[in-house]
Amino acid sequence: MPDVDLLIRGGDPVDVAVDDGRIVATGVELGLTAAETVDATGLRVLPGAVDAHVHFNDPGRADWEGWASGTAAAAAGGTTCVVDMPLNAHPPTVDADSFRQKVEAADGIAVTDFALWGGLVPGNVSRLAGLAELGVVGFKAFMSPSGIDDFEAVDDDTLREGMAEAARLGLPVAVHAESPALLRTPAGRGWRDYLASRPPVAELDAIARAIVLAVGTGCSLHVVHVSTGRGARLVAAARAHGADVTCETCPHYLVLDEDDLERLGAVAKCAPPLRPRAERDDLRAELAAGSIDFVASDHSPAPASMKEGDDAFAVWGGISGCQSLLALALTVDIPTELIAARPAARFRLPGKGRLEPGADADVVLVDLAAETELRAEDLRYRHRHSPYVGLRLRGRIVATFLRGRRVGDGEPRGRLMRPAPPG
Ligand SMILES: [Zn+2]
Repeated sequence: MPDVDLLIRGGDPVDVAVDDGRIVATGVELGLTAAETVDATGLRVLPGAVDAHVHFNDPGRADWEGWASGTAAAAAGGTTCVVDMPLNAHPPTVDADSFRQKVEAADGIAVTDFALWGGLVPGNVSRLAGLAELGVVGFKAFMSPSGIDDFEAVDDDTLREGMAEAARLGLPVAVHAESPALLRTPAGRGWRDYLASRPPVAELDAIARAIVLAVGTGCSLHVVHVSTGRGARLVAAARAHGADVTCETCPHYLVLDEDDLERLGAVAKCAPPLRPRAERDDLRAELAAGSIDFVASDHSPAPASMKEGDDAFAVWGGISGCQSLLALALTVDIPTELIAARPAARFRLPGKGRLEPGADADVVLVDLAAETELRAEDLRYRHRHSPYVGLRLRGRIVATFLRGRRVGDGEPRGRLMRPAPPG
């Protein structure tokens, strides 16, 4: 009778012994016998990435992505747990019933584990408790129009009331931080007009307002996809003064800049938009300085038909990137902790993001000596567009294990993850 189910041996930095889906030991020369041994010689052994910001749009808009293709892409990229946003599924996840519908859509289909964000929208504050009971990681609100009719932006009163309720429930509120009052009327319909219409000041104003409201209500605040170093500094300064506030950024704000939007068009359109190179470099500096808590893909796909045309305002925004999170992190030196342990800890996802005894055996093996060119045909998304096509990426992802089993072997095994109790 072997000691353990699985031994991943010979990799850097440690061997990993797995039993019953959990890590039971890590170290070198563990001296254990295993039912199955995986030779990881020459490979880097990392915890599966936790992507805290994806839009899989299922149910309702599964033709935009869907749980099967979305999680397959995530797993191919080394992600073992995703946190899905309340939009752009239909119905959006704004009450208990829509939460159940989303779990039903994912159950038996998802090949990675998943957790769900609830939505905070005008009129649903009384339904946040029901979402909390079912296990959302927190509540996402838009401070500017979301671009989709079934998910309305919050006014300040709704945001304040929602934050007070979230504080009572012990869950964070996440905000898309852009102030509509500071968005500018475009002069034309081109890419530069789009960029000019969503200036950094709109982001900074919204972050500051969200912090004031969060401090006033005792709410834990998370700012999604911060696009400027100044935005990250506002968050870091508030935290230094005792506020419970975190922020994430996305690989596209660290890798691309506004010239890329002009060059690539719709595939690189997002909100907040890509920034000038100097802003991108400032954001990188804040990441290095520790102001940014973690990095998430904000995978936000749409059919190619919605990405066609030269009217920068009419084409759909959103960057597809959930398959590239780990590869981009390795390529631009984002510490892997920022795509695994940190988001898992922030949203109290039990057993995720760590290679240590007791944790889920979510493991990625990467050949760091290899280089991979991102090719559209290798993408597992429903719609194979990416602003990174042609980019040389560091490393090759060799295998992804979810709770001790190689993803792709056998039935989909993704499970709903609920946050652990606070404290
Ligand atoms: Zn998003």
